[in-house]
Amino acid sequence: MMDERTFRKAMGKFATGVTVITTEAEGVIHGMTANAFMSVSLSPMLVVVSIGGRAQMLSKIKQSQKFAVNILAADQQELSMIFAGQIKDKRDVEFSRLADLPVIDGALAQVVCEVVNEHVEGDHTLFIGKVIDLFVQEEGEPLLYVNGQYR
Ligand code: FAD
Repeated sequence: MMDERTFRKAMGKFATGVTVITTEAEGVIHGMTANAFMSVSLSPMLVVVSIGGRAQMLSKIKQSQKFAVNILAADQQELSMIFAGQIKDKRDVEFSRLADLPVIDGALAQVVCEVVNEHVEGDHTLFIGKVIDLFVQEEGEPLLYVNGQYR
């Protein structure tokens, strides 16, 4: 049966890591949980993120033309829930800085990008980011997501 629910279910079988995308527009830091992330090219170093048409993040990245991808560690499920709106009450989150963008401490990797291309596809927008700075934490296990659940 080819309905939306079945499509979601099928895509949920693809196990992923979890990222929080961060950016700053007009002095305001915004974060959003995303697993629609992949590396695109090694030379030059490019990545892609896919942002839903209704997400606040869409206009934020359009404004800033920059974003950071923070690949979450296994002990950062709460941060994922905060930035996905799964925890409703507002929380104060501390950010560090990398290449002048806010990034999340304790993430396994922080990938800072400037937008080099933008493609509207259906109800999402794909942003191609050129990597301008990187931080990698050698130790630690990743947070995983599969079948709509954290692992
Ligand atoms: P909001 O809904 O306004 O913000 C998200 C949450 O982050 C709010 O609770 C807000 O309080 C909090 N927040 C934002 N900035 C700060 C800050 N500076 N300090 C403290 N808290 C802050 N959506 C996609 O479009 N693409 C994806 O790839 C994607 N993958 C997902 C993967 C997973 C595992 C999950 C659980 C969700 C995913 N989503 C994805 C859904 C997306 O995370 C939510 O729809 C999200 O709420 C959209 O965020 P928003 O930009 O509209 O901002």
